[in-house]
Amino acid sequence: MKDILNLAGLAQKRAQELLPKAGINKQREITRLIFEICKRDNANPENILQQQKITNFEQAKKLLLALRYPVSYNKAQPNAFYLPKLDLSALPDAKIRQTDFYPKNIFIEKEVLNSALAQRALNKFPAAKLTVLEKKTLCGSTNYSERKENLVIIKENFDFVKPCPCTKNCVCCGYNLVNLGFGCAYECQYCFLQQYQNLHAIVLPANIQDFLAKINTVKFRKGPFPHIRIGSGEFTDSLLFDDLTQYSTDIVNFFCGRDEYFEFKTKSTNIDNLLKLKPAPNIVAGWSVNPQNIIDSVEPLTRPLCARLEAAKQIAKHGFKTAFHFDPVILHQGWQENYSSVIEQIKNTVPQESIAWISMGTLRFSRELKKCIESRFKNNFILDGEFLLDFDGKMRYPQQLRKQVYQTLIPKLKAAFPNTYVYLCMEEAALQS
Ligand code: SF4
Repeated sequence: MKDILNLAGLAQKRAQELLPKAGINKQREITRLIFEICKRDNANPENILQQQKITNFEQAKKLLLALRYPVSYNKAQPNAFYLPKLDLSALPDAKIRQTDFYPKNIFIEKEVLNSALAQRALNKFPAAKLTVLEKKTLCGSTNYSERKENLVIIKENFDFVKPCPCTKNCVCCGYNLVNLGFGCAYECQYCFLQQYQNLHAIVLPANIQDFLAKINTVKFRKGPFPHIRIGSGEFTDSLLFDDLTQYSTDIVNFFCGRDEYFEFKTKSTNIDNLLKLKPAPNIVAGWSVNPQNIIDSVEPLTRPLCARLEAAKQIAKHGFKTAFHFDPVILHQGWQENYSSVIEQIKNTVPQESIAWISMGTLRFSRELKKCIESRFKNNFILDGEFLLDFDGKMRYPQQLRKQVYQTLIPKLKAAFPNTYVYLCMEEAALQS
């Protein structure tokens, strides 16, 4: 950590040496480029551009962009390179602690104080300090890493069900969302919640029946899949808190016998409730998957791949459907073999006929999230990849690298699971075939 902060200081010093007369914005761009190159290559900033005689900013920037973006430098538009001020101290470091979820504080809105969820939470966490909220009040922590210390139980009044917002100019997969919960106890380095969630707490609604009642009143999106698909994993992990929320019981009972498919998206193995319920062919437990080396370094606190697949096997045996999401695919040394191995492991563990769908999408994030990741996870390697501002304003790997990922892995998936619906998630039309 100290080394990374030291590296940032050395990069700034080198930028000043190279261009002593450049203005502050130019210095910042050069500093960032030197920092990112040296972090990725484990190089010393003092050695950057030693062989060239640097006479002006444009020359230095061109040379550094070529070093930083070897795949895309000659092809990308100049405004695709995002070079904000380097500020590694903007946010506190992420706290990676493998502990059971046990909040210090429980905030409960007065209206739902007697709800089953509130009572379960009070019984499960007797040492937590209870605060009854008279009205919607700001609570939680100022530090995102401390969100797990605060559980907030609310009555949701507005945000029940909606089509997945997808992203501008992407091919829509027709997914629909039920926002059962806001906040997650895992610490995936790429998680958009660390930049998006403004209430640093785990927020759970007590009125699930109001969510389910809305299902009958909404016109859902269908997309290319033959059935309407609804899921609950956008702002939290769908099953991580299920021993507390028991949402799965209400959901399975509600959807049993209906036409829509309901998916629980998870990186957990919290399936005990599901295994007690009557199986239904339209209930899907979907696991996000990555090679174990990526789980270890990028998705700390989540369950290992083999545990996720064992849970999927049990779900299939019980009579529910399964799904898998290769999302986000993260490029790294050996990615072809590692992701191919994940495909094989699924094939060898989970019965084919249980798999309702498989999706794939490469790592993408907003420009604000980039700054958040590099500040909270200073030693991350994911940002060492080449990311450009792309068609939807998000940062993505260059199109040719994404194409290579899909052309390598999608045929393997289709060969391994010939009867399963395989699709790309949040990807542009040009890459769909
Ligand atoms: S499991 Fe999902 S919601 Fe939870 S931290 Fe990881 S990416 Fe975020």
